[in-house]
Order: sequence, then structure tokens, then C-alpha cells
Amino acid sequence: MSLVITLPDGSKKEFNHALTIKEVASSIATSLAKSAVAGKVNDEIRPLDFVVDTDARVAIITDKDEEGLQVLRNTAAFVFEMVASKQYPSVRLGTSELEEDGFFVDTDKEDQIKASELPDLEKEMQKIVKNGEKIEYKIVSKSELLDLFKDDPYKLELLKEEADEVAVYKLEDFVDFGFNALLLNTGKLKHFKLLSVAGAYWQGKSSNPMLQRIFGTAFFKEADLKADLQRREDIKERDHRTIGRDLDLFFVDPKVGAGLPYWMPKGATIRRVIERYIIDKEVADGYQHVYTPVLMNLDAYKTSGHWAHYREDMFPPMDMGDGEMLELRPMNCPSHIQIYNHHIRSYRELPIRIAELGMMHRYEKSGALSGLQRVREMTLNDGHTFVELDQVQSEFAKILKLIMEVYRDFDITDYYFRLSYRDPKNTDKYFANDEMWERSQKMLKGAMDDLGLEYVEAEGEAAFYGPKLDIQTKTALGNDETMSTIQLDFMLPERFNLSYVGKDGEEHRPVMVHRGIVGTMERFIAYLTEIYKGAFPTWLAPLQVKIIPVNNDAHGEYAQNVKDQLMKLGFRAEVDFRNEKLGYKIREAQTQKVPYTLVLGDDELQHNSVNVRKYGSEDQESKALSEFVSELSADVASYSRN
Ligand code: ATP
Ligand code: ZN
Repeated sequence: MSLVITLPDGSKKEFNHALTIKEVASSIATSLAKSAVAGKVNDEIRPLDFVVDTDARVAIITDKDEEGLQVLRNTAAFVFEMVASKQYPSVRLGTSELEEDGFFVDTDKEDQIKASELPDLEKEMQKIVKNGEKIEYKIVSKSELLDLFKDDPYKLELLKEEADEVAVYKLEDFVDFGFNALLLNTGKLKHFKLLSVAGAYWQGKSSNPMLQRIFGTAFFKEADLKADLQRREDIKERDHRTIGRDLDLFFVDPKVGAGLPYWMPKGATIRRVIERYIIDKEVADGYQHVYTPVLMNLDAYKTSGHWAHYREDMFPPMDMGDGEMLELRPMNCPSHIQIYNHHIRSYRELPIRIAELGMMHRYEKSGALSGLQRVREMTLNDGHTFVELDQVQSEFAKILKLIMEVYRDFDITDYYFRLSYRDPKNTDKYFANDEMWERSQKMLKGAMDDLGLEYVEAEGEAAFYGPKLDIQTKTALGNDETMSTIQLDFMLPERFNLSYVGKDGEEHRPVMVHRGIVGTMERFIAYLTEIYKGAFPTWLAPLQVKIIPVNNDAHGEYAQNVKDQLMKLGFRAEVDFRNEKLGYKIREAQTQKVPYTLVLGDDELQHNSVNVRKYGSEDQESKALSEFVSELSADVASYSRN
């Protein structure tokens, strides 16, 4: 027998017998055999004991390779499974998969595994690792496995995917399949961590039982594991749900309504500042702000096409019993159309820009809900502009300019443009008019090219009525989210029979541009909380100045007086009158991320001055109250760099 193995550099080796990947590695270099963790045979990842018995391309995977990390993490998952089934004899195991930064294993037992049980499981895993136990790799027949797992519905279902011969791994008495390659000795698995638990439906279907998903990660080097755990810690610290709780900004309680947020006074203050800011900005840019109802006759959503294309995301209609069906709006477009249609419009008025902080409701899946980021009741900084066809391009550029100005004011720099097209393979999700789609997608792309802006293109992300430009940002957890959006729409004007009287005295159809600048208040504030890590710039900070009298009796009145003066000038200030130590109060003002802390004692009282500490700085400085006020005014005004 003779077989030829081709190595990654193109060189060939000839053997007169079948051999394992490990033997291939040894034939190249002893050191390589030592650092080898698995191999790639014709691009498939295989364990070191895999036998190569035909001509093949073989690459050795070492602990330096990305794929080596995959093998390591699969091994960690497998060892976890083994330990879990030892610890809980009744546990059933679902799928085990790799994620970008770790692995997870789905488990199921009557009393699901809790986060508090992970340290114990981890200890058991450490024992297995310390002993350097062997993991056996072998090929068995599927029928043997069907018999072995005959009482396990999950494994039986997973076996359906397998061929007649299945690669299995065995550690002590524990057997599992479904891994492309594992380390064949647990000794190399030194640095791993079980991280968290979360419910997950079997096969991802909500009609299936809920299993418990256990997340973990593993690295070859201790330093890498440490760095990764620190990174996870940082993410948690930046997570708007954690900060929202610590700073008392908002809460969501499934008992009173999942996805329905309650804005506490501090969160409400941030929101109010942003709402005022954006309304002023839009009014200055030619928008007319309106108020329209959250409830609307269902017929309007039948006309608009929402009922046909968007029903899944809508709350069910309310049957009023007298033939009237009312619907909680999922979008504000049909409402603004009513405003447009209330008068006869002339070309002289166009573009007409209608805007509203419009509250809307969407029935998002419960598993998708997340803090303020994805909710079921939200208020969109919505606007619809009605233009003539040849105004589309300039209106688009104008809106984009507004978005960029707003991003600058909020210091948002990490974003990218995405042109969102319809999914050409699934066109029945969208308004049916191929010509319209072609034309408007081309128009959007043309507008972006004319502005010389870079973008990515994404099929299947369009609204059902038209293509859009989405501005994508990243959340603390690293997920992409749409923040702002500009959408072209030829459909709704058609459906609602919109018109204006042109120069020629004839009726014409306007084009509608849907746009959101800061998006929804909910998602925007979640995002800001994460990028600022809760330390809101002074103009947005719910509390701008914390005033601490050194002694309540001696300096309380002066403190109150300073507060009143600041409040009268429109600043947000508060006196801390509690009977706590001075140092404690100062520290707490810091953890609450208040931009300015004023400490007032004898000296300050005498000179009508204040002792100022800025958030994040160790320094303190005494200055006249009037001087502090000018500094504060300048700071509050500094967001706008136009
Ligand atoms: P997504 O793809 O995130 O569900 P969408 O494409 O359906 O959003 P649009 O209809 O364009 O969103 O809504 C306008 C804006 O509303 C979005 O850009 C986004 O900022 C915000 N938004 C959408 N859904 C939610 C939600 N469930 N919670 C909070 N904000 C949302
Ligand atoms: Zn709209």
C-alpha cells in the first residue's frame, strides 16, 4: 500500500501504511507532535488518533491556531458534560456548540442547573484535568448508539443527523458524539471557566421544552483566560441594564408587563433633555411637530399594508363590540399621512416635513426583549417628509446631514451605513412592485455614492414598503443595532392616494421619506448609557451638581441657598442632607457619576464660594459661586459644536 500526504506548504510525503494524524506530525518534527492538538484532513477537523488511510491533504493544528482553540473548547464542553452526568445522574444533554468566544451545552433535568452550582461542577472538571485522563476516540455504528441512547429523546433526535458510522468520544464511562475533534487527553485543558446559565428552547423552537444552557470558555494560556474574563466584566459594567439599575434610571418588570419600561425620575430627566433637544433641532430644520393618537382604526393598517405584512409584530386589535376595531400603532406613518391628507397640498409647500415623538407598540418576541434596547412600547423620534420626485436626493442629503450633526453632539463615532434591500428570494414579504423596488434601491445607492459615503449592502433588511439606509451602531454586548434610518417609500402615497397640485395645475403623487434621527428614546438612551458608561455629559446628566454641606447645622442653609440659585438658572442640583460622613457622601456622588460635587464649609460660607470636584478628577478647587456658574453654563452649552 502507498499513500501520499500533502502538507500545507505543498510538499508531499509518501507512506506505505495508514497512519494517525499524530504520526504524521511526528514524521514532520517531534516538537510539532508535542504541540499538536488535532489535524485537518482535507479541510475537516479531526482528532489526533484519526487514521489517514488514503491520499489526503493534512495540516497539523497546534495550540497557536484558532482551530486549536475550537478543539480545546469542545473538549471543555465534553468534560463538562461528563462531570454533569456524573453529578446529576438524571440529567439529559442537548446540543453543545461553539460560539465566537466560548461554548455552551444545553442540559435538562427536573430542577435545572443553577448558576450557583457552576463552581462545584468546575471543581469536578479540575479533578479530571489534573489526572490527565485519556479521552478515547472511536468509530461505532449508529445502531449501537441508538441502543445506548434509547431512553434519551434529545440524543435520539440528534442521531437522526448522523451517518451510519459515528465518531464517538469516551471519558471513563461517559460517551458522546457530535464533535469534530477533541483533545485526547484532558491534561491540556487547564484554563477554563463555566460562566453563566440561561434558558433556551430545544432546537430553538418556542413550542419545544425549555432547557438550561450552560456557557463557558477555555484558553491554552492562563493570561488569555484572565484577559477574557476581564473583558466580560467590562461588558457587564457597561451593560445599560446594570447601569440603569445602579443609577436608578428605569426598570422593566415582567409581572406588570414584559418589555414595558418604567422611567424613574433620573431616566425621565435624560429623556426629557433629549426630547427637547431633538424637537428644537428639527423645528430649526423645517419640521412641523404634531401629536397623533396611539390608537387607530384597523382599516388604516389594512390600507397601509401593515396588517398584511407586519401583523406578527402588532398587538392584536381591540374589538370595541360595535363593529369598530382599534389597533395600537406599530408605526406612525399612517398617522402622519392623515395630517398630510387633511388639507389640499400644493407643490409650493413641498417638502412637507411632519415630525412627532410618536409612541408605538410592537409585539416583540419575549426572548428578544432586552432592557430598554428592545421593548414593546417605544417612542420614536419619527418624521415623514413628503417630496416631489426630483427633491428626493436633496431631502435625503439634508436628513443625513441632520443625523451627522446629532451624532456629533452626542459624541457618537462608532457607526456604519447599511443600505437595506428587500430579500430577492422572499419577495412576498414585501410590497409587490418590482419596478418600484429597482428604482428606489438604485436611488438610495445613487444618493450615497453622490455623497461619497461608504456603506455595506444587506438583502432582506428593507421595510416591507421600501428600501432604507440604516445607521448601525454596536451595543456593549457587541450586537449590531439600527439607530437611525432613512427610508424611501413609493407605496404608502399610492395606497392612501396622496396628492399635491403641481405647477401645471394637475394632481401629482408625492414620494414619502420615513426617517428616525435618534431612533427610539428607549434604544437611544440604552446606547448612550453604554457608550458613556453611565457618566452622562453635563448637559444630559440627570443630576448635574451635588451639594454637600460639611455640617448640616452650620452650612445647610448656605447649601440650600446655592441649590436654589442653580435651580433658578435651570441647572439640576441637589443637597445631600443625610447624616452620613462627608467622605462617604463625596464617594457616593462619584459612584452616582454626578458631574460636579460642591463641598461647602466655613470658608465657602464666608466668601460666597464653592469647593468644586469634577467627576473623574482627584482635584478640588475653591472659587466664587459666580465663577462656578459661568463654568457650568459653558459646560452645558458645549455639546453643540455647530
Ligand atoms: P429592528 O430591525 O431593530 O427590529 P426595525 O427595522 O423594525 O428595527 P424600524 O421600523 O425602522 O425598525 O423602526 C425605527 C427605529 O425604531 C429603529 O431604527 C430602532 O432604533 C427603533 N426600534 C425598532 N424596534 C424597537 C424596539 N423593539 N425597541 C426599541 N427600539 C426599537
Ligand atoms: Zn414611517
